[in-house]
Amino acid sequence: MPNGFLPLSRQELTEQGITQPDFVYVSGDAYVDHSSFGTAIICRLLQSRGYSVALICQPDWRDPQSVQEYGEPRLGFLVSSGNMDSMVNHYTVAKKRRHQDAYSPGGVIGKRPDYAVIVYCNLIRQTYKHTPIIIGGIEASLRRHSHYDYWSDRVRRSILLDSGADLISYGMGEHSIPEIADALASGIGIRDITYIDGTVYKTRDEESIYDAIRLPDFEQVRSDKRQYAYSFAIQHGNTDPFQAKRLYEAYDGKLFVVQNPPAKPLTTQEMDDVYALPFMRAYHPSYEKDGGIPALSEIKFSLTSNRGCFGDCNFCALTFHEGRIVQARSHASILAEAKTCLRDPDFKGYIHDVGGPTAEFRRPACDKQLTKGACKHRRCLYPKPCPNLKVDHSDYLSLLRKLRALPGVKKVFVRSGFRFDYLLADKDRTFLRELCEYHVSGQLRVAPEHISDNVLSRMGKPDVGTYNAFCREFEKMNEKLHKNQYIVPYLMSSHPGSTMKDAIALAEYIRDLGYMPEQVQDFYPTPGTISTCMYYTGLDPTTLKNDDPATMQKVYVARDPHEKAMQRALIQYRDPANYALVKEALLREGRADLIGFGDKFLIPPRAPRAGAGVPSGNRGGAGPSKGKADAAGRKAGSAYGKSGSGGKSVKSPGNKERSRHSASSHGGIDSRRRSRKK
Ligand code: SF4
Repeated sequence: MPNGFLPLSRQELTEQGITQPDFVYVSGDAYVDHSSFGTAIICRLLQSRGYSVALICQPDWRDPQSVQEYGEPRLGFLVSSGNMDSMVNHYTVAKKRRHQDAYSPGGVIGKRPDYAVIVYCNLIRQTYKHTPIIIGGIEASLRRHSHYDYWSDRVRRSILLDSGADLISYGMGEHSIPEIADALASGIGIRDITYIDGTVYKTRDEESIYDAIRLPDFEQVRSDKRQYAYSFAIQHGNTDPFQAKRLYEAYDGKLFVVQNPPAKPLTTQEMDDVYALPFMRAYHPSYEKDGGIPALSEIKFSLTSNRGCFGDCNFCALTFHEGRIVQARSHASILAEAKTCLRDPDFKGYIHDVGGPTAEFRRPACDKQLTKGACKHRRCLYPKPCPNLKVDHSDYLSLLRKLRALPGVKKVFVRSGFRFDYLLADKDRTFLRELCEYHVSGQLRVAPEHISDNVLSRMGKPDVGTYNAFCREFEKMNEKLHKNQYIVPYLMSSHPGSTMKDAIALAEYIRDLGYMPEQVQDFYPTPGTISTCMYYTGLDPTTLKNDDPATMQKVYVARDPHEKAMQRALIQYRDPANYALVKEALLREGRADLIGFGDKFLIPPRAPRAGAGVPSGNRGGAGPSKGKADAAGRKAGSAYGKSGSGGKSVKSPGNKERSRHSASSHGGIDSRRRSRKK
């Protein structure tokens, strides 16, 4: 197998003795040859099957010549926006332009267009009218059906139609992409490749679609929100590779977009084979002069242990992309990669993470999932752990112990999110003990997301009692170990279901905890999540009964930017900049009882003078104050104006970025980043 980087220019292609590549891969990201980058996995996988691939990364979308670098590929173009949806990459939840892009040279923003997949495909079509185009990655995968697009605030058609591509490879792609390549190589026309699991195709012949469910037509979902939610409920119920039916959606009654069932999960051997591909574990040297690719440094010494997640949180697109069935690499495979890290001159002895969408999931939720798939009408962890759930941390524990024992490894961190309800369900506390003893460095980030059960139920998250119980266990364990460590909770504002009352309840909880979140995640309605469906329709698709759209429950949704700002401000009520919003919210809700001086008040009656009277601990980012905020929720001060009584202010940089990185993929997800979204 050839070593070195894949060709990134005509000259490099020629140097590798290739005149016409089998595939040209057009990506919105810069080229990083590492297994955390979807482009690298797909290209290396094709290479391992004997296909040549050349890359065009971040082409100038205003110039058709930019996709002509290699001429016409023998079999087709592969197109992806990169590891993230281009709109999430470019815009904050407030729809403001971001200033940095971790997937571009030097972190510079603006190297790819908005709606990158559509733009790249249209660019290719200007020159290559009939060459097969296969799209994949998170942007294509989660926009495979008609979908609500938050940025333009409208329902868009399937990306297959707007892009002019021939086929979508949705999900992770390791099964479907080689099958597509083999079909094309054997001479099958792209329009006849309609049978591969994990793909979406289009046809005008409804008769040819067999054993399928017809979703509401595009025109219906575009004009009727209840039909939209109903369609989404059907899609969500057909994400399991063992049970899902074929789905299709009609446009004008004569064009049909057909989704084949998802591809089967990878076996451990198949996972190992993917991670054993000859990645260079570096960005292409041509980026060196621009300062490299920032995203690499985040994951270079992190190890992917698993894929898939049976947590199934409503605001996460993972079920739609990787599915609920957990797939894991073998210990041998992970240890081999760790040893590669050890040989890297930049390695300082710290493994930054060993995880995936959920750190400690190393096996499917139950044995049934292996042959029959995940239950359609039941969740594995919500509202309570399923009685059939196999709760077992022994394999993950054993893996962590082996990694810790490697000569040259000083510390193994676990930074992927983990499910505290799953951890609590394990009566054996060995994992918790070793997590606290060896894998946490002062702070443990967990994601209760909210404390109001009203909101948590709309998130598909465990109730606040479960979180509180975990906090007590965590504190008990740290006391036993004589360690001073605390929990940093991730919190989300304005999730569907969250009223102002819920936001105030959360503020009071934070007050009692003595914790000052520096950054709060405002709910971001990205494609492919149940929560986005709720946001758009005001209906909860998980409450569908008897296949009757009329049964879906209404959900309160804060859409007004001012109300969202108030909900958000309440979480950071100690920040003087939020004073006016917090006061308005409290007065509006008749909660003047929370305005005053003392421990039980949120804010004082009058706004503090600019720059005066705010304890450092309440400013955010100022570091620990003398009040200790920890898992037990020790009281650490309340309304500002009481100098020196402020709660602990903790920087949590991951929080701000977690939605940005939440849905990145190669077909493909950088699961460690996404995991923060729990
Ligand atoms: S039986 Fe329980 S654990 Fe197994 S798939 Fe169904 S809900 Fe999940």
